[in-house]
Amino acid sequence: MKFDYLIVGAGFTGATLAERLASQYDKKVLVIDRRNHIGGNAFDRHNEDDILLHLYGPHIFHTNSKKVWEYLSQFTEWRPYFHEVLGVIDGQKVPIPFNLNSLYALFPPAYAERLENLLIESFGFGVKVPILKLRESSSSELKFLAEYIYKNVFLNYTKKQWGLSPEDLDPSVTGRVPVYISRDNRYFQDTYQAMPRQGYTRMFENMLQHPNIKVMLNTDYKEIYDAIKFSRLVYTGPIDEFYSFKHGELPYRSLRFEFQTLQYEYHQSVGTVNYPNEYDFTRITEQKYLSGQKNRATTLITEYPQPHITGVTDAYYPIINEENRKRYEAYAKEARNSDVIFAGRLADYKYYNMDQACARALSISEELGAEK
Ligand code: FAD
Ligand code: UDP
Repeated sequence: MKFDYLIVGAGFTGATLAERLASQYDKKVLVIDRRNHIGGNAFDRHNEDDILLHLYGPHIFHTNSKKVWEYLSQFTEWRPYFHEVLGVIDGQKVPIPFNLNSLYALFPPAYAERLENLLIESFGFGVKVPILKLRESSSSELKFLAEYIYKNVFLNYTKKQWGLSPEDLDPSVTGRVPVYISRDNRYFQDTYQAMPRQGYTRMFENMLQHPNIKVMLNTDYKEIYDAIKFSRLVYTGPIDEFYSFKHGELPYRSLRFEFQTLQYEYHQSVGTVNYPNEYDFTRITEQKYLSGQKNRATTLITEYPQPHITGVTDAYYPIINEENRKRYEAYAKEARNSDVIFAGRLADYKYYNMDQACARALSISEELGAEK
């Protein structure tokens, strides 16, 4: 049998492309993954206490893209969910992203009010200000505030998470969690925020059930590519690995997850608590908040950042800065001159959220569908 497409990787990128190519363009597709499951890093399953667990760290779905939302809604029902995060600062648990409520939780009311007024005068109510921008303020009081937030929220968390200071990363990284001049305690403000009602894995099963799609797990691309007949290759794994690291390894950051089940109902007051300054983990997430499950027990995921070692730890985060972008460009140049389709967080070496991975796959499928 000859496949029209061999798709390496069954995560958001691979599954979206497989589904579109099979059902919209009637292509025969083989999806392989070297892991023993579909879903990529969004994979979830129930543990022995029946709690739906995200095995590769907590995944919260949010998007402003109507197109992505409507596309995925064909494969899952949703449970509305607004993620909230508290950060432990000076012994207090305060809303993250740092907002006006955080200000009042940490400073005496009169001083908090003064800073609130200054923030609103300088930037406007409802505006999101990246911390590296706030640090450039000319007002000495806002400079003081910026230094306080930088030191207490960003500096140590970022050093733990990336092994680097905020200045050594692209500003977009810390810009994901800007200071928010608002009373809105939600982590995201996207139009669509919800979790797949029966989990991500069920959604992926629905995406991949088309008769034109075959799925092969526990299979590395290198093991089978010369044994399978196919016309086009889609690759969603690490691009440096695809090219046998010929331009050097691209830096990634990894994590170790610790799962702990407690035999009582709730441990935290919100989904995630960040620990910027204490401990060698960054955050603890209580899974039940994400799924809305009722259960007498509760499971926590604690994230310990780790260096990435090829073949030993998983490449979870591309480390985005100017130097690494240049290294990636050597691979991107090769990619542009080949007929392999590279897509996804690891193949594009981009810090995509799930919706961005899905959007990119949808647009590639349209380009492929438009070819001949
Ligand atoms: P992946 O999910 O990484 O899938 C790639 C697949 O390819 C993997 O299954 C891998 O096994 C397979 N593969 C690689 N190489 C080979 C090979 N040679 N042969 C066979 N198979 C191969 N996004 C959000 O929107 N919200 C969140 O809350 C969120 N939280 C996150 C938390 C963590 C800890 C991490 C790491 C990511 C998080 N993300 C979140 C991002 C999200 O995981 C990604 O956007 C999404 O998974 C990208 O999908 P993908 O298909 O590109 O890559
Ligand atoms: N960040 C931080 N302190 C926090 C939250 C985030 O310093 O309390 C920084 C840190 O550098 C982190 C980045 O902002 O890696 C992006 O945070 P996000 O929560 O988006 O990371 P992800 O969920 O992708 O791990």
